[in-house]
Amino acid sequence: MSASFFDLRGKTAIVTGSNTGLGQGMALGLAAAGCNIVAVNRRAPEETRRRVEELGTGFLAVDADLASTAPIDDILAQAEARFGGADILVNNAGIIRRADSLEFTEQDWDEVLDVNLKSLFFLSQAFARHCIDGSRRGKIINIASMLSFQGGIRVPSYTASKSGVLGLTRLMANEWASRGINVNAIAPGYMATNNTEALRHDPERSREILGRIPAGRWGDPEDLAGAAVFLASSASDYVHGHTLAVDGGWLAR
Ligand code: NAD
Repeated sequence: MSASFFDLRGKTAIVTGSNTGLGQGMALGLAAAGCNIVAVNRRAPEETRRRVEELGTGFLAVDADLASTAPIDDILAQAEARFGGADILVNNAGIIRRADSLEFTEQDWDEVLDVNLKSLFFLSQAFARHCIDGSRRGKIINIASMLSFQGGIRVPSYTASKSGVLGLTRLMANEWASRGINVNAIAPGYMATNNTEALRHDPERSREILGRIPAGRWGDPEDLAGAAVFLASSASDYVHGHTLAVDGGWLAR
């Protein structure tokens, strides 16, 4: 093992939902290891562009709404046209809807499942075909959640989607490990981003959550950078179907 195991120079990563939050933190971590970034977003990722370009690697913004699978082929085509293809896919884009299960609507079910699970699967499928057709190794990193392991409360479609992400990570690893593609996931703990704004502004929930994080603080987007580089690099070539918690110790509690 040498430092070059974590070297991503010459590689290209597609990172969905990288204009803010955890996606931005992982894109910056990958870029710091030398990787070009294809940032897939509904809005122009200008801050991410500036910070990646400061790190000296290539950056391409692709406009896409992953509420549907329609943009998927174009994402791969743009990565191919600009960088000659992609080596890494980070399926980070995700949404959450909060309501009591007794009141939960079908719309809040469908919208969350479409982004968090359906688009994740079909983008992974397109990426795996791209790797196999181009005879290149591939690394897929899915973003799971504590609610891949726990039930949660008032977030039924989110729990269903993130529990599904853990299962699909294993399934895709089983099918594609022999094709040179590593499929793994990162399960972030409670991180300070837009996704958890409602929780952090609820004094009681916020106190309860913080009180059981052994690290004694909410996570930051930078906290995912090291795990993302590990799972994107050759250091993890024999790691398949694993969901790595980066949670300040939450699950150990
Ligand atoms: P965030 O809301 O800041 O980021 C979500 C990202 O997904 C944004 O870039 C957003 O634009 C993008 N996105 C949402 N819907 C999209 C769509 N239809 N098309 C394209 N992009 C879309 O929140 P975050 O916390 O950074 O979330 C990133 C991922 O991490 C999500 O999958 C989330 O479920 C997961 N996660 C977050 C936490 C946490 O504590 N913050 C914990 C576990 C998992």
